[in-house]
Amino acid sequence: MILDLREFETFPAHKSLEADPASLAVDFEGVRRVDKLQLDLTIQKAGEEHYCQGQVKAVVSLECSRCLTEFSRELVNDTDFIVCTKEQYESHQEAIDSEDYVLLKGSDLMADVSDIVRQAVILAVGIMPVCRKDCRGLCPQCGLNLNEGSCDCKNEKIDPRWEGLKDLPGLEQEKPRE
Ligand SMILES: [Zn+2]
Ligand SMILES: [Zn+2]
Repeated sequence: MILDLREFETFPAHKSLEADPASLAVDFEGVRRVDKLQLDLTIQKAGEEHYCQGQVKAVVSLECSRCLTEFSRELVNDTDFIVCTKEQYESHQEAIDSEDYVLLKGSDLMADVSDIVRQAVILAVGIMPVCRKDCRGLCPQCGLNLNEGSCDCKNEKIDPRWEGLKDLPGLEQEKPRE
């Protein structure tokens, strides 16, 4: 996903980039596929640096961490970054805090924003995505998807290691919140 800064003559400039999903694989647990990806940018120039405020819009196919079925989700996330050369980046290393930088290769004004867009997608996915908040997951014994039906397995709600503790007073409030 390449941002060509030569095409802008006046600033702030606006640009919408669409990625070829096949070329932008996101290697992150739970992400099976990126189906659609768009980056909307507002670009401001300060000196030789380009300040970009972006919004990533993606449609991704995820695997539910509980029931393992595939589901599709639309994600939106903001991503702000500065495009500059390696020399510029190193010259104000001291002042660099939480800013994200995309470095230009050599002297041409082409910035590869793939990594920063990937990051934004990953942050929006989060860890252990679920197909829906109340997904019931799979039966640990027979593997049936409990969203689609119920089985006859007797699944102990209490971990056997805690069995002896369940009658102790004071544990009533320890129920997991959901
Ligand atoms: Zn699920
Ligand atoms: Zn079962």
